[in-house]
Amino acid sequence: MGETLMNFENRNEAILIVGAGLSGVSAADGIRQAGFEGRVILASDEPESPYDRPPLSKEVLREPDALQRLQLRDSDFYARNRIEMMLGRAAERIERDTRRVRFSDGTIVHYEKLLIATGSSLRALPILPTGMSMVFYLRRLSDAIALRDALPKISRLLIIGAGVIGLEVAAVARDLGIAVTVLEASARPMARATCETMCDFIVDRHMKHQVDIRTQTTILGVEKHANGYRVTLSDGSAVFADAIVVGVGVVPNIGLAEAAGLTVSAAGIHVDGQGRTDDDHIYAAGEVTFHYNSLLERMDRQENWAHASAHGEHVGRAMVVGGPDYAEISGYWSDQYDFSVQSFGVSAGDRNVVRGNPDTGSFAIFHLSNGVVIGVSAVGAARDMRAGKAFVNAGAEVPEDVLSDLTIDLGKWRQQVST
Ligand SMILES: Cc1cc2nc3c(=O)[nH]c(=O)nc-3n(C[C@H](O)[C@H](O)[C@H](O)COP(=O)(O)OP(=O)(O)OC[C@H]3O[C@@H](n4cnc5c(N)ncnc54)[C@H](O)[C@@H]3O)c2cc1C
Repeated sequence: MGETLMNFENRNEAILIVGAGLSGVSAADGIRQAGFEGRVILASDEPESPYDRPPLSKEVLREPDALQRLQLRDSDFYARNRIEMMLGRAAERIERDTRRVRFSDGTIVHYEKLLIATGSSLRALPILPTGMSMVFYLRRLSDAIALRDALPKISRLLIIGAGVIGLEVAAVARDLGIAVTVLEASARPMARATCETMCDFIVDRHMKHQVDIRTQTTILGVEKHANGYRVTLSDGSAVFADAIVVGVGVVPNIGLAEAAGLTVSAAGIHVDGQGRTDDDHIYAAGEVTFHYNSLLERMDRQENWAHASAHGEHVGRAMVVGGPDYAEISGYWSDQYDFSVQSFGVSAGDRNVVRGNPDTGSFAIFHLSNGVVIGVSAVGAARDMRAGKAFVNAGAEVPEDVLSDLTIDLGKWRQQVST
């Protein structure tokens, strides 16, 4: 038993996890893997057994049996690991002086250590509030089911926001034969998640599928029209739509932490490399955090699956046995039509070196800063993606003419930087 474990001499002392998304579940896993023997309580305001979110904007919308494959862990995982589930109850207040959390149904839970893993909520557009008929936001399983059930009734769909989720929904809708218009306030789609070359590839694919993407365009007004809406736009035009999907980003759920007097900002709950807040008994993990990453040597915010999984597990272990600071580089993927964008590290550098021809649907882009590979993005190029990840992890300097030359096997360079 490690030194820190001695804090939990009493086997009844509990670690309470608020939020049973990917980071909360990964933390529970990490806590048990680290050998903690006491109580682990996993609480969520959602009623469903913990599920995965990426399929909500992909398979769930198009495959009838996708719901059966959403579980984050096998059905016996929680019982096997003695993880007590408290579903369908929101944590409403943290009482730091007595180390208790009050829940919406009146339950009070004492903790020795508390993990806040409350993730993010969708940013709402005041002009299109949630609850409006045929207006959809997409974060929870219930949101995805509502959209899936509505899709067969929709002929014209307006999507606000050309981010990852907006474009994934656009791809599903086009596959179903729905006419799609996408509005994007900035100059290009997926601006935060891609460099220009990747963006051009994605836009080209959507245009080939007849998606009407309008950049630097915002919504000015919405009025009911026939069975749908007439939406007036900043370019002076109007769009008619049976339904509207809003995908304009997320905000971290910092409310609980903020009310408890912990340090927070718009980027999330501030935590150190172990996930610790400024209260030694309270940690935070996943998308809700603004966390220290020792590889980057700075505070960071990430909104992707790989980070929620790795950070949750890391903080779970750290709560029990301490250990090194968080030092992971993460990335994302996005499935649209028949292609999948993979990205690792930063998604644009001061130089972006293309390997292969985007027109073929198989290429990689290496993102460089001062000659060092700091990110890689790819479509249909798994080997180059693997090499790119190794370069990023090693902080490797690989000549641009090597990266772009398809006759050179990057696997050999990968082995060199890995040894
Ligand atoms: C539709 C969709 C598609 C995505 N696709 C991709 C993808 O293709 N690739 C990729 O890399 N990433 C993708 N992501 C992002 C990825 O799923 C998230 O980064 C990840 O789910 C974050 O995990 P988390 O546990 O930190 O937060 P969350 O998943 O948000 O989980 C937090 C949980 O805490 C609960 N909670 C909040 N407040 C309280 C409270 N007060 N009391 C109790 N419970 C509370 C929430 O209801 C939620 O269940 C997608 C996300 C969405 C929504």
